[in-house]
Amino acid sequence: ELNAQWADQWMRDAAASMDENRQRLIDLDRAIGDADHGENMDRGFTAIVEKLDADGTPGTPADVFKLAAMTLMSKVGGAAGPLYGTAFLRGSAAVSGKEVLDAGDIVAFLAAARDGIVSRGKAEPGDKTMVDAFTPAVEAAETAAGAGSDAAATLSAAANAAEGGLAGTEPLVARKGRASYLGERSAGHLDPGAASTTLILQAAARAAS
Ligand code: ADP
Ligand code: MG
Ligand code: MG
Repeated sequence: ELNAQWADQWMRDAAASMDENRQRLIDLDRAIGDADHGENMDRGFTAIVEKLDADGTPGTPADVFKLAAMTLMSKVGGAAGPLYGTAFLRGSAAVSGKEVLDAGDIVAFLAAARDGIVSRGKAEPGDKTMVDAFTPAVEAAETAAGAGSDAAATLSAAANAAEGGLAGTEPLVARKGRASYLGERSAGHLDPGAASTTLILQAAARAAS
């Protein structure tokens, strides 16, 4: 059941994944950015877990997402903090008041989160950003939910599609964020933010299974 307990577990799984993949995200960001993405994400999700431990699990998934949003906005500098903060804030609003999320709610959450990132960062698909992992994830979730998949299966379809989107960032030339300063030299590397988006969605699917 995708309730507040699931959302709490999602944040904890994501924190463990950021810790585990800290160096990998740093290395990806070193190639086309400033080598801090792993540190930024690890710090942000560690702070979310600390807040959950201090406050106890909130009552609904939306409350967990709001806590995550506020924490990411205040603890994570750079591009990713405000972008993921906006994603969780908009996603939270999309499922406000619901005790348990069904497949349609997952689609609404992911679409709102993606739209939040786009409205904040103005990146389009193909600009070599986290949007390139998020957009196929939303589309796969829509397809899965439309075909009658349950919420957990919808999430795992989204996570798999994000991974495909991440792979697709490698040949792209960055048009947003620090990597865009490199111009053509940004091609040939995976986008760090698309990598962290994939890890976050994989954690969501794991927590639901
Ligand atoms: P910074 O670039 O400020 O050091 P991070 O390293 O934490 O921030 O995050 C970099 C990631 O942020 C990039 O890999 C990219 O996915 C994402 N990003 C940067 N700018 C944008 C944007 N305008 N829209 C969407 N995502 C962006
Ligand atoms: Mg960086
Ligand atoms: Mg930075």
